[in-house]
Amino acid sequence: MNMIAKLEQQLRELDERSLTRRRRVVDTPCAPRLVVEGRPLLAFCSNDYLGLAAHPALVEALREGASLYGAGSGASHLISGHTRAHEQLEERLAAFAGPHLENARALSFCTGYMANLAILTALGADADAEIFSEQLNHASLIDGARLARARVSLYPHAGLAELEALLAASTAATKLVVTDSVFSMDGDLAPLPALLALCEQHGAWLVVDDAHGFGTLGANGRGALEHFNLRSPNLVYMGTLGKAAGIGGAFVAAHASVIELMIQRARPYIYTTAAPPALAHALLASLDIIGGAEGAARRAHLNAVIAQFQQGLRLERWQRPASPTAIQPIIIGENAEALRAGAGLYGQGLWVAAIRPPTVPAGTARLRVTLSAAHTHEDVAQLVAALNLLEGS
Ligand SMILES: *Cc1c(COP(=O)(O)O)cnc(C)c1O
Repeated sequence: MNMIAKLEQQLRELDERSLTRRRRVVDTPCAPRLVVEGRPLLAFCSNDYLGLAAHPALVEALREGASLYGAGSGASHLISGHTRAHEQLEERLAAFAGPHLENARALSFCTGYMANLAILTALGADADAEIFSEQLNHASLIDGARLARARVSLYPHAGLAELEALLAASTAATKLVVTDSVFSMDGDLAPLPALLALCEQHGAWLVVDDAHGFGTLGANGRGALEHFNLRSPNLVYMGTLGKAAGIGGAFVAAHASVIELMIQRARPYIYTTAAPPALAHALLASLDIIGGAEGAARRAHLNAVIAQFQQGLRLERWQRPASPTAIQPIIIGENAEALRAGAGLYGQGLWVAAIRPPTVPAGTARLRVTLSAAHTHEDVAQLVAALNLLEGS
């Protein structure tokens, strides 16, 4: 078989299992109302939880950042790409996460994917380290654990007793417990207070991936650590800036020594070009909104549409696991049925992502509804009515 025929065979196999993915081309800014391939749609699939991605103040800050710093950074952070904008952003982020950490410092990244690789490869660099990873962790944490030299042990979803047994049995010199704070396909929260207590008891780091909590959880939008009122030198916090913050990038906040080690050692930090400084400049405006009265009002509206969605659904066949966050999964089961449900909604002008393995475990294909502060109550009522009808049909 020649090389191309072999690839085509693999693609056919994906298609036979209803696993082929396709991209849709969006012609308008990220918002509930989109034009997609010429069609107007009402979308429930972005992670723009506070509706900031197209906010006029951020668009203006991006323009201002480009006129101050130009278009590109030109180099990695350790050469000449680390601008005043990046430095200011890191100072602001360290202050933002500061109440929850000891001697906090922050480090900015181009993406959350890279930040997770950096944390796990820097702290889990040695063969005498052990990473304890939650079963439903995001792919970037799984890949970071694969890339680290540390030994990797999985513990079940919310499996505190299993984790405790693993920690007690471990003789590793460095222990890293790694978890999503808000699980990206289920929307539920990790039991962070109990996890932190275990980590403190066993001398382990607790790495918290707060991609979906940063900006949305906590009275000031500081995320899961604020929500649970946690503070510890054992915490290594990762927040992303392309979801609720509406722009792009990510950061790690932790004790200054953790950050210094990452600057010296983390290859996903060292060997890549710094993000365009205008993004860092615009993120300062995003942090102003998140931490101010407008952010609080947006979080309050987000919580109101989440409650409306939960109260309105009347499902009998499909499963609806309890989720207190903007991520509201509807578990359908079979890949083909999930795709049909997604297509049925799409036909009515509603865009909800159908998620299949390997993103979720086999047999749990689902619709992943994400709600945003930019959705109106009318938007949510339209989706709820369509879902209630679709399940019965
Ligand atoms: C989105 C996401 C990431 C990756 O962040 P990016 O900035 O999009 O690369 C990491 N972890 C979780 C849980 C996520 O949902």
